Amino acid sequence: MYIVQIASECAPVIKAGGLGDVVYGLSRELETRGHCVELILPKYDCMRYDHIWGLHDAYRDLWVPWYGGTIHCSVYCGWVHGQLCFFIEPHSRDDFFNRGCYYGCHDDTMRFAFFSKAALEFLQQSNKRPDVIHCHDWQTGLVPVMLFENYKYEMGLQRVCYTIHNFKHQGFAGNEILWATGLNNEDYYFQPDRLQDNFNPFALNLMKGGIVYANAVTTVSPHHAWEARHTEVGSGLGHTLHMHQDKFTGILNGIDLDFWSPEVDRYIPHHYTKDNLEGKAQNKKALRDRLLLQDVDKPLIAYIGRLDAQKGVHLVHHAIYHAIDNGAQFVLLGSATEAGINAHFQHEKRFLNDHPDVHLELGFNEELSHLIYAGADMILVPSNYEPCGLTQMIGLKYGTVPIVRSVGGLVNTVFDRDHDSNHLPETRNGYVFYDSDYQALESTMNRALSLWRDYPKEFQQLVKQGMEYDYSWNHPGKDYIEIYDRIRYKPAAVAL
Ligand code: ADP
Repeated sequence: MYIVQIASECAPVIKAGGLGDVVYGLSRELETRGHCVELILPKYDCMRYDHIWGLHDAYRDLWVPWYGGTIHCSVYCGWVHGQLCFFIEPHSRDDFFNRGCYYGCHDDTMRFAFFSKAALEFLQQSNKRPDVIHCHDWQTGLVPVMLFENYKYEMGLQRVCYTIHNFKHQGFAGNEILWATGLNNEDYYFQPDRLQDNFNPFALNLMKGGIVYANAVTTVSPHHAWEARHTEVGSGLGHTLHMHQDKFTGILNGIDLDFWSPEVDRYIPHHYTKDNLEGKAQNKKALRDRLLLQDVDKPLIAYIGRLDAQKGVHLVHHAIYHAIDNGAQFVLLGSATEAGINAHFQHEKRFLNDHPDVHLELGFNEELSHLIYAGADMILVPSNYEPCGLTQMIGLKYGTVPIVRSVGGLVNTVFDRDHDSNHLPETRNGYVFYDSDYQALESTMNRALSLWRDYPKEFQQLVKQGMEYDYSWNHPGKDYIEIYDRIRYKPAAVAL
């Protein structure tokens, strides 16, 4: 099959969170299985150009209709760790992708509506006719809408798989988006069964458009698919998902083992396997040296992730102090986009700066994240909601025991050592708590800490059981191919 992914991120060149990892990892898996995959991405000024090989202009004169006129774009092409990617650069005074950031601008909906339109124009004008277009999150929700409404006669037979990584951000817009993209017809799109938002009748909802128009809709874990339909986690789209339930499923994300494996990781000083964990102890020492933590007989707990209300930051904050009060060390690597949360953690960082058992690293640091996964004993994921979550899966692969809250993809991947009645003791791999409060967090951290301290052999056994789990792209890759195969156009057999 010929598959084109249209997305706003692709790790490691453009990565704000798990979306980038998924777009890259899934593409590689599909190629390994013999499919042809190409990616279309925005050409941001702030992406990691050092991760692109052979960047050159591939299509100089892409003219994209926009409002009454056209915007001239160049399309560049290069390989991101072996994966062929096209980068669209518009030349207009809006400077859509020269903002020094990926997201967070006042005109984000316009920026990504333009990107979606430009990606379709590129496919059309360069005569690319994939079997399946796979697009992601609200940023590309208009792709299936425009493909069906505006391009179906020129393009023909493409089918769309649309994956939702986070229901919280849906992309709201007014009618200007219709005039800009050439969809026009306000009365038609402001309908409850099309793009009209389920709560605000004066707004269009781009994610809803993706759900309504795509041929298949997925989210990133089976449990989150259930939550999105039946709980407030769907952020108002539960009814829409219910109406389109026949094409909606949850497929667990995978992790890319070329990048995330303690056996080959190029960012860690000591490689190790589940049968020889010597290297893990050496990485712990290397991590302590790097972060100026004291090298003593204490467990080390880590948090890696965005500092955002979604991630349960109040519990992260509480966990830092609970760890130091209970003879453990804590390392945090995270960045906050919200000013209040950022100020709070900056304050904590200054306050704890000289503490020998705590290090807070505020910012995005891919290299350091690998060393933390390899050096820590436990990884904390206390999210309020978590569509899939990659950090617990990476933690498991690196023998770092996850302590997680029982939501979304965490339910599908972490099984409590002491209480999970659905799994045999020898297949359990971490610690799980239910309520989002301090008591639940503390008692679960205490269980993990006392196993580490009082029963080191059992703790090692738990580490090994976690490392045995296969959360690679192997299974999800197969699931996505089944979906693509189901939706792609198949000419009817002709009787001879
Ligand atoms: P989300 O997509 O909600 O941000 P995920 O758990 O799905 O969360 O994915 C997070 C990914 O981003 C992981 O690969 C994690 O290692 C990485 N990550 C998050 N924050 C940072 C950071 N500050 N520095 C380096 N990597 C980070």
